[in-house]
Amino acid sequence: MTQTRVLSVSHAKAPFERTTIQRRELRPHDILIDIKFSGICHSDIHSAHDEWGGGIFPMVPGHEIVGLVEAVGTEVTKFTVGDRVGVGCFVDSCGECEYCLKGEEQYCTKGVVQTYNSRDYDGNPTYGGYSQKIVVTEGFVVGIPDVLDMNIASPLLCAGITTYSPLKHWNAGPGKKVAIVGVGGLGHLAIQYAHAMGAEVTVLSRSNDKKDEALELGADQYFATSDPATFTALASHFDLILNTVSANLDVDSYLSLLRVDGTLVNVGAPGKPDQYNVFSLLMGRRSIAGSLVGGIRETQEMLDFSAEHGIAPKIEIVHADQVGEAYERVLRSDVRYRFVIDVSTL
Ligand code: NAP
Ligand code: ZN
Repeated sequence: MTQTRVLSVSHAKAPFERTTIQRRELRPHDILIDIKFSGICHSDIHSAHDEWGGGIFPMVPGHEIVGLVEAVGTEVTKFTVGDRVGVGCFVDSCGECEYCLKGEEQYCTKGVVQTYNSRDYDGNPTYGGYSQKIVVTEGFVVGIPDVLDMNIASPLLCAGITTYSPLKHWNAGPGKKVAIVGVGGLGHLAIQYAHAMGAEVTVLSRSNDKKDEALELGADQYFATSDPATFTALASHFDLILNTVSANLDVDSYLSLLRVDGTLVNVGAPGKPDQYNVFSLLMGRRSIAGSLVGGIRETQEMLDFSAEHGIAPKIEIVHADQVGEAYERVLRSDVRYRFVIDVSTL
């Protein structure tokens, strides 16, 4: 067993405290990772505040993990000591169902084991990346390309793959008109992926505050949703809308922006259900969909794609004792665009 320092919350909305936990003894396929950086995803806040229900406390959030391989189990072949590696939202799956076999472990029929706020197949709670060390089976560890700094790579492990995967699945590319709703941790990466894939990219943000940066990131146009004229100007315009917003939206307004056969894909995950009028779908054979992160093979592909296309998150590094304050700032949208914890400060 390896003792490790962590940042944990004892119950929903509790302040973070420094404690220690034990990571399991290395099994033959396990890797012990010395964590260097851990991103702060809005899902960490939803979870630590128990907005989705069923939270397992005490909780150690964090699923944008990057570090160095410190030790490997006897049968590990994928990595060796010293390799730069990452772990995202999942740490195990059954490996046998049709989705696991397709490399879409996130939809495992047995239930994927999430990096934290979940239970492994032995029933033990999982603890995430706000931690100095973690033990993960090699199949759920990815390699970080040399050109990506470890702190920059960290948000790609969730925010990157969560936006790359649906853009690819719904064929964002040349000739497609794609809207990205919300310019946060996910949204600012989605703009870069959709642009690199060749789509015409429109950003829909509440205000004009992020306009210059969104255009620099690759947006072709930018509209403020606080201006009702936006919804008339863009009526029936998009093939695909990727909603990255952490709160409920007026879904009918966004559906009205889709062309016939267009799709509104939700990756944002507010705690309360959305509402919409079914006529917003009928009138244009439109679809509403959702997408959960992405599989391990696609995560590696996304990292390589990011390295190749120079795609990188804009980050602000915080210390372990600033995480509570960082949560407050994310809730105020006062972050450009992702906080990353320097784990050496733990
Ligand atoms: P974030 O950094 O807080 O960004 C969310 C953005 O949504 C904000 O920057 C803001 O953009 C917009 N927004 C916030 N509150 C709003 C409101 N009340 N009305 C309208 N727009 C609002 O969060 P994130 O880390 O990118 O995560 C976004 C969501 O995705 C969260 O719900 C998270 O749990 C979810 N998520 C889902 C998956 C998945 O697998 N599906 C994976 C990761 C995260 P503007 O200022 O530009 O309007
Ligand atoms: Zn996340």
